[in-house]
Amino acid sequence: MNRHGGNYAGASDRTIGRRSLLKAAGATALASTLAATTAGRAAAEEERTWDAIVIGAGYAGGTAARELTAKGLKTLVIEARGRIGGRIWTGSFAGEQVEIGGGWFGPGQTNVERELQRYGITTSADVASTRAVMPSTTGFASQAPADAFGHLGTLFGQFYAGSETYFERPLEPLYRKDLLPSVDATSLAARLNQLGLSPTDQKWINGSTSVFAGGPSSTGGLAGMAQWYQLAGGTYDGFLSTMSLKPAGGMISLLQAMLSGSSARILYNSPVTSVTDTGFGLTSVKTAAGWTYQAPVVVVAVPVNVWRTITFNPGLPKAHADAALEGVGVPTATKMWLQLKGVTDAVYAQAPEGSPILMMLPQKQLADGSRLYVAFTGANLNVSDAAAVKAAVAGIVPEATVVSYRAMEWGKDTYTRGGWALRKPGQLLRQLPAIQQPHGRMVFAGSDIASGWYGAFVEGAIESGLRAAQQAAALAG
Ligand SMILES: Cc1cc2nc3c(=O)[nH]c(=O)nc-3n(C[C@H](O)[C@H](O)[C@H](O)COP(=O)(O)OP(=O)(O)OC[C@H]3O[C@@H](n4cnc5c(N)ncnc54)[C@H](O)[C@@H]3O)c2cc1C
Repeated sequence: MNRHGGNYAGASDRTIGRRSLLKAAGATALASTLAATTAGRAAAEEERTWDAIVIGAGYAGGTAARELTAKGLKTLVIEARGRIGGRIWTGSFAGEQVEIGGGWFGPGQTNVERELQRYGITTSADVASTRAVMPSTTGFASQAPADAFGHLGTLFGQFYAGSETYFERPLEPLYRKDLLPSVDATSLAARLNQLGLSPTDQKWINGSTSVFAGGPSSTGGLAGMAQWYQLAGGTYDGFLSTMSLKPAGGMISLLQAMLSGSSARILYNSPVTSVTDTGFGLTSVKTAAGWTYQAPVVVVAVPVNVWRTITFNPGLPKAHADAALEGVGVPTATKMWLQLKGVTDAVYAQAPEGSPILMMLPQKQLADGSRLYVAFTGANLNVSDAAAVKAAVAGIVPEATVVSYRAMEWGKDTYTRGGWALRKPGQLLRQLPAIQQPHGRMVFAGSDIASGWYGAFVEGAIESGLRAAQQAAALAG
């Protein structure tokens, strides 16, 4: 597995003062959330009219807010939760800082690289695997990581054959639109069936494709994963490297830095229920508590799967409405942290589609000899059932004992309603670029609708936030 060490100079954690908390900042995870929230709310409630409103304080909304304030626009961010970050959530488990949502950056993600450099945030390489446990004819077998990843590379090379042509410019996915109709219509499962692989080789691939599809491989589109593969350089090593770097201070540290340096104000714990274009040059945003705020332009930076819970007046255009109905965020996306004893080496494990646990990645070794692991689980595992979790781990790594675990079911989260996004078959051609266009005085942002590293990457959220800020500034002016 390729592991790249980062090389950015500077510090990681920042101490954020009360003034910044009232202004904006991503300090909720660090300081007294309630106090900050109450103070922020009181201050913001005095002002109902803004130059711009951003709904959602994830990486897309945070980027848009920073850019809009930099253009001199008085900007209010309205966030449903008591924290910034959305699908990025730097939390804790077993006394360690861990990522409950997105966990890694990768080299070549130029927006992230530029922002890390701008704020002087360093990165470190993730833990390297020392053993791979992969499906075999009789269950599972251990291999040297280089052998396992080498074979996976060969299989995925076949799987994505042709993608270097149909995604000749992967940052512009429609550049070879002429070649895409059949690719876009193909599901991951259908592509796998085209290859005629042995049953064991099929299991090597379908565990991975069902992780990224966040459900059955039949629901995820080939085009989505093939685009990521080409963005990562068209090699399996490159694809693995998208999960290789961790920023100092956790995944949230960059967003905290971006918002700390901005004058945007954040209103926490305020789910938006409706967005209405008044027809008089203003858009009105209403929160669940009944407060309304107005601005000439509103950036909707909530996950696409959440759009259906917000009333838009006038209603959304077809591409947006279709996406909201179909969903782009994958349905399951359950990420589990495990503390395991009894395994002395750093095990990377993959299981066939339909298994309770689909993938395990080794993380930090603790002082007591136990090791932390990240696992992505399938729909078949009830993560509330500790006995089932233990049995699932034992099914892959029999020598392991589960000391403790923490699971987050993103598909059940009210303000996400899905995990990362992977376009379903047909969604690329039906939705891009229409879904990136403003609707009256409403502008849309989010990694779910990015062009390049869309869906499963903070990189795409930043790309989309930058575009939305430009669109919004034009409308606000
Ligand atoms: C388990 C998991 C693992 C991942 N792994 C990686 C990874 O390793 N690397 C990587 O780069 N990316 C990863 N991703 C994807 C990455 O987290 C997302 O692409 C990115 O964070 C999305 O940013 P966003 O701003 O578009 O959306 P979000 O982060 O979802 O932000 C949207 C914001 O809107 C808020 N909101 C929702 N509804 C409302 C409402 N009604 N009113 C007001 N606010 C509302 C939410 O609370 C949230 O703060 C992962 C995602 C998940 C779930």
